[in-house]
Amino acid sequence: MTWETVIGLEIHVQLATNTKIFSGASTAFGAAPNTQACAVDLGLPGVLPVLNENAVHKAIQFGLAIDAQINQENVFERKNYFYPDLPKGYQTTQLEKPIVGAGKVDITLADGTTKTVRVHHAHLEEDAGKSLHEDFHGMSGIDLNRAGTPLIEIVTEPDMRSPEEAVAFAKKLHAIVSSIGICDGDLSQGSMRFDVNISVRPQGQSALGTRTETKNLNSFRFMEQAINKEVERQIDLIEDGGKVIQETRLYNGDTGEARSMRSKEEANDYRYFPCPDLLPVMIEESLIDKLKAAMPELPEARKARFISELGLGDYDADSLSAHRPTADYFEAAVNVSGDAKLTANWMMGELAKTLNQAGLTIDDSPVSATMLGGLVARIKDNTLSGKIAKQVFEALWQGEGQSADEVIEKKGLKQVTDTAVIDAMIDEVLANCTQQVEQYRAAPAEKRGKMIGFFVGQCMKASKGKANPAMVNKCLKQKLEG
Ligand code: ADP
Ligand code: MG
Repeated sequence: MTWETVIGLEIHVQLATNTKIFSGASTAFGAAPNTQACAVDLGLPGVLPVLNENAVHKAIQFGLAIDAQINQENVFERKNYFYPDLPKGYQTTQLEKPIVGAGKVDITLADGTTKTVRVHHAHLEEDAGKSLHEDFHGMSGIDLNRAGTPLIEIVTEPDMRSPEEAVAFAKKLHAIVSSIGICDGDLSQGSMRFDVNISVRPQGQSALGTRTETKNLNSFRFMEQAINKEVERQIDLIEDGGKVIQETRLYNGDTGEARSMRSKEEANDYRYFPCPDLLPVMIEESLIDKLKAAMPELPEARKARFISELGLGDYDADSLSAHRPTADYFEAAVNVSGDAKLTANWMMGELAKTLNQAGLTIDDSPVSATMLGGLVARIKDNTLSGKIAKQVFEALWQGEGQSADEVIEKKGLKQVTDTAVIDAMIDEVLANCTQQVEQYRAAPAEKRGKMIGFFVGQCMKASKGKANPAMVNKCLKQKLEG
């Protein structure tokens, strides 16, 4: 029997607002526990929530980015349950009337094929606080700084058929929300959390199998591992004559262990009802139009532009467009260098490698876009050979100069382009290699192309890499042929 995997995702995305969804408390990450929770976040008696306009705008922007319908009337509801990190006793969320209706996201798979994943809807809600179990012996600590942080929860249709598709979707969503600036995209700080609904069914069957939901995965790698493990568990279970029960599960990425958290029977009845403290949100067409007009370029459009306007190949365009700071850096560098392909090579080669080794992101790169663009410009105009350019890059990285030109000047790294100097150097090299010169002159024309490499190498060595290779080539040919 062959089995088909079916996956639907629910994704919590933290919106990058300065303040919370219903209060003025800060959403900044990393503050001392309970210093950023105000009376509203604590649910003290008598307080009233005030909806953060910016959170609404960001949710609308998300809807526009996935071609979704924006529901002009949307309603907040209370989802009632008790948990220590939820002092209000309910989460304010949306159920029947979410802000974002059905939409779609196209994903590209490793084999180059594309597929459309349907988004069922996305709704606005508030985050809960955090329970801390590790530092408190026999007790739990509660940090309410995160309580009230604005989220959108994005719910997909069960359209994905493999871990690869689920991860491709998750990455695409990450690229979208970070490029349009509605989320900082920092997975390590929990800015995006993935719940994975998984079922299996015999290949060819149209009815869906019973699903489980694995909650709160915060990395693409853990997501892939959790799916593989759960699919295997479900298939083994069914093949051994058992039945999958609908349950919520947890996956521990550090240990690779998965376990059941609660079954459907134990699930709460949340007794949703419209929040009497918040009026329905009415969104005017003019606001949607305004946000549409101000919408930053989406990764897909940027990729297409990198290909059509800048002449990049599909692979380079894809790598450089997915992450907005990287794409911004690239465009800024190209503006200075005037050569997109060469700039792309340097970004994906030397820069990516050096950032990676130092454990830095492009935002913290000691070599700015202007600096890299300036360096590439000097390669393009033959001031630097590729090899010497790496020395200049290293010097810029170490802070030994503010620009490539400054480093070149200070270190005397300018490429030698003076014909007289190159001439004299070549004469000296040829005088020291009389035997090879004879061999060259005796060789048939079609073999000479390869043989000339030897002389070029000698000249480059003699100039400590500073001679202009193209000029050396041309001059050498004249002398050897002449
Ligand atoms: P509920 O009403 O219990 O929340 P939904 O129908 O809203 O369930 O689905 C929640 C998530 O689970 C969605 O992402 C959906 O795509 C996914 N899902 C639903 N049924 C299945 C299934 N049989 N297999 C895999 N995923 C599923
Ligand atoms: Mg649901």
